[in-house]
Order: sequence, then structure tokens, then C-alpha cells
Amino acid sequence: MKPFKSICYGFHVWKIAGAGIAGSFLYNRLTNSGFDVEIYDPKVENFYIPCGFATNKNLIIPYLKMVGIDFDQVCEIEDGPMTISGNKFEPLEVKNLGLSTIHKMRLEKLMVGDNVIRKRCQHHNGSGFIDATGISRALLPKPAEDRTMYAMEKICPISQYKGFYFYFFPRGRGYFWSFPLKGTYHVGAGGINLEEVKSYLNPYKETKLVSRKIRMKPIMENIFTKNCIGVGESIGYISPLLGEGIIPALESAEVLFQCIKSQDSLDEIGRAFRERTGKRMKEFQRLSNLVRKVQSGKIISFTNIFSLGLVMREMRNFGIGISTSKVLGHFL
Ligand SMILES: Cc1cc2nc3c(=O)[nH]c(=O)nc-3n(C[C@H](O)[C@H](O)[C@H](O)COP(=O)(O)OP(=O)(O)OC[C@H]3O[C@@H](n4cnc5c(N)ncnc54)[C@H](O)[C@@H]3O)c2cc1C
Repeated sequence: MKPFKSICYGFHVWKIAGAGIAGSFLYNRLTNSGFDVEIYDPKVENFYIPCGFATNKNLIIPYLKMVGIDFDQVCEIEDGPMTISGNKFEPLEVKNLGLSTIHKMRLEKLMVGDNVIRKRCQHHNGSGFIDATGISRALLPKPAEDRTMYAMEKICPISQYKGFYFYFFPRGRGYFWSFPLKGTYHVGAGGINLEEVKSYLNPYKETKLVSRKIRMKPIMENIFTKNCIGVGESIGYISPLLGEGIIPALESAEVLFQCIKSQDSLDEIGRAFRERTGKRMKEFQRLSNLVRKVQSGKIISFTNIFSLGLVMREMRNFGIGISTSKVLGHFL
């Protein structure tokens, strides 16, 4: 039985642009609840869009359960040793609080099956659209200000680091990572200076090199328009501290699913979604401001200290068991 609401909306089919993490999850949740959904993405199957594939298994498992997937089906490397190094501290072994790697494309495929329409989604009136196009933000209006950083990644057969490794650049300018996969490594860097990002990757021999920008600030305006709602990185629902976007994409997609299920019109869905994601968006905004201040040399300020608790929570949520004193030591 189809939900009667599609008739109230004035259209019958939800059109999702983007079969990444957010779009694929939402497709699965909506179709399994009886909604008519089409999902579009021009990328060929298994196309590798840059992503370290690192996520906290403890946080992703509840979302996987919602779409009937076992962690083992997508797991690459579970836990493993973790080393953090940075500006003011020598490499330090820290507790891994669940950071693992998953196969992102396999997860997307398990969620959408063979149902992706392999073309760009065209926006027009008369349908309900979901912009899940990540950094492209292909359907929603361009924001007045879009804060992004450079990110590059190599797939390498060898890395000098066997477990999860992070090196944080001085002054919050970005970081370098090496994450283990089954038989290979994702070695990458993200930062505000492209030459600096490249310099950290130069020593590594790769089988593949990819790059794209990553969104570093939530886009509070135009989260929804009269017939389109954004989700995931398209609205900047991503942690600006670590560039962590997998869990936030799933989180925002689940909130949107619940709003679609419970509200009767597009406008109500959009408003409920904005309200329910508002608290987290404000946290992303605070983190984005903090990163910007640190980058411009304004390190010690009342608001920065105030945000420290949030910084620690972001690190631990990603799975990095680092102490507060080490984080302070890096920035002061
Ligand atoms: C180098 C790098 C490393 C990263 N590493 C990590 C990490 O280790 N862990 C982590 O949690 N996050 C990481 N991120 C961030 C994370 O990958 C993203 O934030 C997350 O995938 C966003 O999910 P999404 O569904 O919003 O968008 P995406 O997963 O990016 O999916 C967007 C999809 O939209 C499609 N698309 C674009 N335009 C159109 C159109 N017009 N019509 C239809 N489809 C379209 C694209 O082909 C794509 O498949 C990394 C990002 C980068 C750049």
C-alpha cells in the first residue's frame, strides 16, 4: 500500500539526486516504507569518490541495522592501533574508540541495489526533490558563502603506518591521514593550502589519486525550497573539525525520513527537518568558526575555550581517544 501522503503533496514520486551515503540510505528507508522513489546519480557503479572510508563502528551499526545490513558485510578493518601526532606533540599511541574502515561503495550498493538511474537529476517544478549531491549541491540554490577545503587521497599498496594515523598541521590548517583497508591504504590530506596538502602526499606511491573539495561550514539558508530539501554534505551537514561526513550524512537522512513520514506537506517537512537538525547545525557552525579563528591565529579566546568540550566530543565520536591536555597542547 502506498502512503496516502504522496497524493496530498501533489506528486507521486520523490526524486533523490545523489546515490551517495545520504541518498542511498534515504532511498532504502523510503522505499521500505512504501513510498515511490526514484534515485539518480551519473557516476558509474563502484566509482570511487574521494573518502577515507573511516567511521566509528559503534555509531554506524545502529544505522546499518535500520537498513538490514550487518557491519561485517561492509567492514574493511575493524578498530586497530591509532597514532596521533601534531604540531606540539610527538606521535602518540591513543585508544581507538571504534574507528574502523568500511567499503563505502559496497554500503551504497547494498542500500540501493540496482535501482540507480544513471544520469544527472534535473530539477523542475511538479515533483518533490531531495538534494543529496554532496559537495555539488546540484539542485539547491548556491549559498552566499561556501567555506570549503582542498582534499586529496591516494590508494596505496604500502603505507609506513599500519594502523590509523593522523598528523594535524600547525594552526588548524588541516591534517594528513593514513587509514588501513583490506590489503591497501587510503593515504590523504585535507587543508586550506593545496601545496601543503600535496607535499604530504608526494612521498607515497599510489595506484589511484583523487581529489575534491570538502565542505567546512553548514549552509543554514535554503536547507529547503518550495519543492527541494537538502540532506548530508549538500547542506554542510558534516563535521568541520575532522571532515567527517559519513555518520552525519546518515543522521540527517534518518531525520529527513522521519519528517517525511510524519508531516503532510513539503513545507511542513522542510520546516520540521530544519528544526530537528538545527542543534547539530549550530554545533557545526561553532566548530567551523573555531577552525577559522585558529587558522587566523586567534587561538586563545573565551569562545574557543568554550568550544573545547565540543571538540573533544567530535574527536571521541570519530573514535579518537585523545586527552584534553593533548588537544590544548596542540593549539596553545
Ligand atoms: C578526501 C576525503 C576524505 C574523506 N574521508 C572521510 C572519512 O574517512 N570519514 C568520513 O566520515 N567522511 C569522510 N569524508 C567526507 C564524506 O565522504 C562525505 O561527507 C560524505 O560521503 C557525504 O555524504 P553525502 O551522501 O552527503 O554525499 P556523497 O557521499 O558525496 O554523495 C553525493 C553523490 O551525489 C552524486 N551527484 C552529484 N551531482 C549529481 C546530480 N546532479 N544528480 C545526481 N547525482 C549527483 C555524486 O556522484 C555522489 O555519488 C571525506 C571527504 C573527502 C573529500
